[in-house]
Amino acid sequence: MASLGKRMVSVLGSTGSIGVSTLDVIGRHPERFSVYGLAANSSVEAMLEQCRIHKPLFAVMMQESAAQELQSRLPQAWGTQVLQGDKGLAKIATDDEVDSVMAAIVGAAGLPSTLAAAQAGKTLLLANKESLVMAGHLLMDAVRESGARLLPIDSEHNAIFQCLPVQADATPLKQGVSKVLLTASGGPFRSWTYEQMRGATPDQACAHPNWSMGRKISVDSASLMNKGLEFIEACWIFDLEPQMVDIVVHPQSIIHSMVQYVDGSVLAQLGNPDMRTAIAFGLAWPERIASGVAPLDMIATARLDFEAPDEARFPCLRLARESVAAGGTAMVVCNAANEIAVAAFLAQEIRFTQIPQVIEATLEQVPVVEPNTLSVVELADQHARSAAREAVAAFLQTAVES
Ligand code: NAD
Ligand code: MG
Repeated sequence: MASLGKRMVSVLGSTGSIGVSTLDVIGRHPERFSVYGLAANSSVEAMLEQCRIHKPLFAVMMQESAAQELQSRLPQAWGTQVLQGDKGLAKIATDDEVDSVMAAIVGAAGLPSTLAAAQAGKTLLLANKESLVMAGHLLMDAVRESGARLLPIDSEHNAIFQCLPVQADATPLKQGVSKVLLTASGGPFRSWTYEQMRGATPDQACAHPNWSMGRKISVDSASLMNKGLEFIEACWIFDLEPQMVDIVVHPQSIIHSMVQYVDGSVLAQLGNPDMRTAIAFGLAWPERIASGVAPLDMIATARLDFEAPDEARFPCLRLARESVAAGGTAMVVCNAANEIAVAAFLAQEIRFTQIPQVIEATLEQVPVVEPNTLSVVELADQHARSAAREAVAAFLQTAVES
């Protein structure tokens, strides 16, 4: 447990957008936090630099060649031990010495380590929304059974958490809540026509008007699939029926989400769009610490606008809703198909507007079962990925023929 009164933190996905922001906040408070482990897929250069600054006890690279390269370049004097692959990841997510785990790996790849941290009773700072989307039931059960504390890092869920009464063990309460209002920026294509979106490039999709993020979540924000994933994430974290969650487009991204109560009160959490606020909240909870985020200037902000989401131009939102309603592994399939479709779009194999088409074709193809165990979830994920790859291949074939 905490050494010399410091909180021991592991950052899974340390070289990504959330990982880098997490280390930025940690670096501002050396008296509070100590880094136990860092994990990344393959970015040796970035990991080396993070090890130089933060001196973690362990650095995990998922790719074997990356682990070997890191091992050969890491000065012994820094005191960091290099680990490789799933075993290394599991160690830094669950070791007895670890207090808090930032789960910031992107996509389904983050599920096993997130679940392991929950099972080990850690304070789980959850950025990897895909793990809740895939295995919400398993993850929330693990949190309850082990006594882990789940602190949402996704800005909307972090805002909702801040607007609810919360028990000492971090369990949010929902007494008197009538609705949760999940805000959405609308992404870079909010005012684009369908025809314009048909010709959208990966760089245009990744140019988010307010947030700077990894490429996968940026495309999800442009298609509104991100809001679909967050919708189910909210249902799991706050134990809400789907009809309790409304989506409100708010282009300025200043209100990060709201909670409406039966007495007519609406509580909102506001701030500049910078993930370090939510990250600092999670790292220090129940205290508050400086995050490096500039204070919100209400006069400069001047106005806050709201509008309804357009499910006709953004079918991903409808597909996510339908998957939630279908239950079982439908969300696993939706999530996996989305990952394949987004990767194909980023590789310029399919059009932006074909992302929902790949997902819909996959949902029609793959049967829904009860997600009772991790292996059932993983099987549905694999099944959906191969069906989605076939759907992408069919589009590629049509493009060649036409
Ligand atoms: P990113 O692409 O910038 O970074 C991903 C990180 O995961 C990198 O460190 C990478 O090395 C690591 N990684 C990739 N594949 C891996 C694998 N197979 N095994 C282990 N590590 C692997 O992503 P990001 O934008 O930081 O997003 C991370 C997670 O946080 C996502 O689930 C995203 O939805 C969520 N999130 C991000 C933001 C944001 O502002 N970026 C906001 C809310 C939620
Ligand atoms: Mg979000």
